[in-house]
Amino acid sequence: MIRILIVEDEEHMRLGLRDNLEFEDYEVDTAGDGEEALQKLNHNNYQLILLDVMLPKISGFDVCKKIRKQGINTPVIFLTAKSQEIDKVIGLETGGDDYVTKPFSLRELLARIKAILRREKIRSDPNRSGKSVEIGKLKVDFESYTASIGKEEVSLSVKEFQILEFLWNRKRATVKRSAILDHVWGDEYQPSSRTIDNFIVKLRQKIEEDPNHPRILITVHGMGYKLVMH
Ligand code: CA
Repeated sequence: MIRILIVEDEEHMRLGLRDNLEFEDYEVDTAGDGEEALQKLNHNNYQLILLDVMLPKISGFDVCKKIRKQGINTPVIFLTAKSQEIDKVIGLETGGDDYVTKPFSLRELLARIKAILRREKIRSDPNRSGKSVEIGKLKVDFESYTASIGKEEVSLSVKEFQILEFLWNRKRATVKRSAILDHVWGDEYQPSSRTIDNFIVKLRQKIEEDPNHPRILITVHGMGYKLVMH
């Protein structure tokens, strides 16, 4: 059975999520603050963590940073409030895998949980067939959702993989921001185009020799982006 830890200080939300996930046949454990979360994470194994950002005692971001330092690589989905636009990006830099913005629909959350669990399953499958492509200095395998630069494994968030794969499948063509939004975020939930720009900046840091002067992941002004293969 797949075990999920829900870390959320609002009781109503915590219990609601627990009931819904149990209904979906997940085994669920809960924590009401950051300290309790760390305790549980040090003594139990989970396949996924739903981690609220604003928590008493220790924030969600700090919980994530701490467990990553300890070598706990359990995927994390951050639960953030709407005004935390910047925090979202920081959240992914602290080692999170994805996030949902409150209020979110259960359907959206379940889709994200399934996507991450599927990715983890493929990643841990020793028989997976690699099909990697080289984009700049980054080597990406869109089947196993793994990436590397040289011999170093590089961690990309699910969204980064999805954006990159979408552009890769349309390489040499200009791809509109709205098309990326529709494909990666779907029509339930649309972040601002600035969010996409932030993802592009992060991708360039992994792809480009000189991220400030991109030669591969190009901005087409007023339109969107283009993956240029040399
Ligand atoms: Ca909270």
